[in-house]
Amino acid sequence: SVVSYLPGSAAVPSATAAEIQRVFERQRETAIRLRTSTAQERIAKIRRLCDAMMTYRQQIHEAAYLDFKKPPAEVDLAEVLPVVSEAKHAMRALKKWMKPKGVWPTSLTIGLKSWVQYEPKGRCLIVSPWNYNVNLCFGPLVSCIAAGNTAILKPSEMTPHLSALMAKMIKELFPEDEVALFEGDVSVSTELLALPFDHIFFTGSPAVGKVVMAAAAKHLTSVTLELGGKSPTIIDETADLALAARTLMWGKYTNNGQTCIAPDYVYVHASKKDAFAQECIKVIEECYGKSAKEQMASPYLARVVNQRHTKRINALLTDATQRGARVLCGGEAVENECFIQPTLLDDIPADAKIQSEEIFGPLLPIMPYTDLDAVIAAINAEPKPLALYIWSRNEANIQKALKSTSAGGTCINHCVVQYAHGNLPFGGVNNSGIGNAHGEYGFRAFSHERAVVRTRFMMARTLFPPYTKFKSKMLDI
Ligand code: NAD
Repeated sequence: SVVSYLPGSAAVPSATAAEIQRVFERQRETAIRLRTSTAQERIAKIRRLCDAMMTYRQQIHEAAYLDFKKPPAEVDLAEVLPVVSEAKHAMRALKKWMKPKGVWPTSLTIGLKSWVQYEPKGRCLIVSPWNYNVNLCFGPLVSCIAAGNTAILKPSEMTPHLSALMAKMIKELFPEDEVALFEGDVSVSTELLALPFDHIFFTGSPAVGKVVMAAAAKHLTSVTLELGGKSPTIIDETADLALAARTLMWGKYTNNGQTCIAPDYVYVHASKKDAFAQECIKVIEECYGKSAKEQMASPYLARVVNQRHTKRINALLTDATQRGARVLCGGEAVENECFIQPTLLDDIPADAKIQSEEIFGPLLPIMPYTDLDAVIAAINAEPKPLALYIWSRNEANIQKALKSTSAGGTCINHCVVQYAHGNLPFGGVNNSGIGNAHGEYGFRAFSHERAVVRTRFMMARTLFPPYTKFKSKMLDI
């Protein structure tokens, strides 16, 4: 990259309450006007956003590099491409999604024509986290525009170069009464959350998800909450270990472990633990180098987002090792460089803090097991995760893991790629989220499903008084 990374983040400008209120008011009339917008009009806006992703691709690379040394290939894969493919999918399918869906009459409504009509919710708020700031702001924006709404966007303040670039792009692309973006931290979020939006689409941590839902409750605003948590992983005794190590290390160390659906911890069958750990170490060394020095210089390994999080993750590591955990590889940290080595941990004691907090960084606990039922019971004792992964060649084990647990999504013999499938719903369950994103699911998240009934002839006459003997007989149950 032509830009050079300097750890430590710049501050973002903060929108004022008056400015936010003014734009929110301006969007009122526009939201009503957009109710009758056609598929073509919405597609034209989505195309503008899609084209801008390509025009600004280089600048997105540079901003992400400045923010946390994110490798450009990972920016393409996880920021540019997902928005472009979400946009292309919507442009292709929007007419079909918007079409009212006719429903069959039931025994009580014979003679009535009925359908579900998708109407825009109105004024929507989209709040994104820092880890895929562009993707998780502009991806939902595609669905929001597809459904015919206005939008106010609030990207995370923790990747300030990306936040500034996103603000510039939105200003260029849309009039503020259709789509506006406000930069800022919690204080800006809090101002926004006080407003009576028609829908809030929030991506972030479960803790802040609760704040968002409580604020939405004040206005009975509907919410989509895309949250996080600890995503468990199982590698059984029949798994292809080389494949498991290769795919798992990729899913874990892309974005340096700062991915909502990254494997958080691994249960591996005790008979395969050492062989699996060796395979993982081989992959880490191949991809990022052997020593901390080599890994720090690697162009393929993003940094931790800031010093606060580096300290947090390093404290989890220190706490685990002080309680007796063993470092299988890695283990070094340079806090002022926002750097922590890809680290595999063994012998983690149950009371280590790393067992109860979403790691969201480059540490990976590996835990041996002998009884799959006990693993499933342990997973079921925790809040429902956003993702659960299993590597196995035993169909019975795969089905058992799939059917006896609950998770937002699952990959079998892979990880993270469930996110990339535009025809699958992407979302969590309870603590890991409410509602879904992507494709038609995203369109529906931003739409109200309106029930419409149209009479074709006057069969309904039977309902009205006087209730003669004949009518009463007809209504007899
Ligand atoms: P976060 O919850 O701290 O912040 C998310 C957004 O909320 C930011 O824009 C932030 O400014 C705002 N915010 C922070 N505190 C707030 C408050 N008290 N009131 C109102 N708004 C507030 O999350 P983060 O650190 O940016 O991202 C990491 C979390 O997001 C992890 O838990 C991760 O698993 C989750 N995540 C989930 C998904 C998903 O699709 N489910 C994707 C990426 C990240």
